[in-house]
Amino acid sequence: MSKYWSSMVKRTEPYVPGEQVEQLDIVKLNTNENPYPPSPKVKDAISVEMERSLQLYPSPTADELRQTIGNIYGLTADEVFVGNGSDEVLAFSFMAFFEPGKVIRFPSVSYSFYPVYSKLFAITYEEVALNDDFTLRVGEYFQSEGGVILPNPNAPTSLYAKLDSIELIVKNNPDQVVIIDEAYIDFASESAVKLIQKYDNLLVIQTTSKSRSLAGLRVGYAMGNRSLIEALVRIKDSFNSYTLDRLALAGAKAAFEDEVYFKESTGKIIATREKTMGILKGLGFNVLPSQANFVFVTHATVAAETLYLQLKEEGILVRHFNKPFIENYLRITIGTEEQMARLVEKLKKLV
Ligand code: PMP
Repeated sequence: MSKYWSSMVKRTEPYVPGEQVEQLDIVKLNTNENPYPPSPKVKDAISVEMERSLQLYPSPTADELRQTIGNIYGLTADEVFVGNGSDEVLAFSFMAFFEPGKVIRFPSVSYSFYPVYSKLFAITYEEVALNDDFTLRVGEYFQSEGGVILPNPNAPTSLYAKLDSIELIVKNNPDQVVIIDEAYIDFASESAVKLIQKYDNLLVIQTTSKSRSLAGLRVGYAMGNRSLIEALVRIKDSFNSYTLDRLALAGAKAAFEDEVYFKESTGKIIATREKTMGILKGLGFNVLPSQANFVFVTHATVAAETLYLQLKEEGILVRHFNKPFIENYLRITIGTEEQMARLVEKLKKLV
């Protein structure tokens, strides 16, 4: 710590991300990336952009991409905001909708960035416990003082809360913004986007990092009533911190336009997930009912940390959280069929 640091910097805690490795023979199942490459149309669109327009500034309003996303969900461009990964969109949303001194609520087991952002922006928060089966205590999010944020499906638990539960939370916070972080929604049943027309306090945040295989391009987006989107634009403008670059704008647009590829690759991951869940149960794991591109598991006899370390030694990375309530669980990203077969083969020896 340095005497030159502001209180904002002092409030931050270094974020500990999942291990990132470049080594190719590692089976990387620890950060919920998509094991498949993006649509080939992404590469084509980026190549065109590189040859044609890289000397020109990108669109500061990202109209084309916002319209493309809007078309998918039946929204207008001014009901869509885009940013540098949903992490940036989340940060802007904390600034735009949550107030220092007013307590916000999120689940006690959820995305580890929420406490990080809360501390950074001096927003007080209350972590709402989950039920023993990891489901949400829906009523405990009602009438919050400062707003609510929750991931659906939840991470790292992989559980999906039905839309009527989400609607109840939105409805019962009429004076606050409820943010639903749908990073994994394309592997689940139904998005809350359809509630946007009904509730002007609902902001839905999604990302191209998971279902569209673009974690490296950094494109996330928020959808909501246009007054919420206008607030995000104001925050963005006052930071002057991003406009998505030309390659990101073109690549993400191409990914959204290739619906066939999207359906096929998310379908493959869901099929591999269902198969893997069955196999893991057969090996003595308790597997939570996943609607994400990862599973959350605990073994009847072998400790999660032991398994995590032993798998790592064998070149397979999964995620273990040293946190109360979930320390005996592993979060395992769904990879290709081959990667999952390698995992299963190792696990058979370890459990
Ligand atoms: N929300 C949740 C729940 C996540 O798990 C993640 C990625 N780990 C993100 C948001 C951020 O994704 P990105 O910044 O890549 O869009």
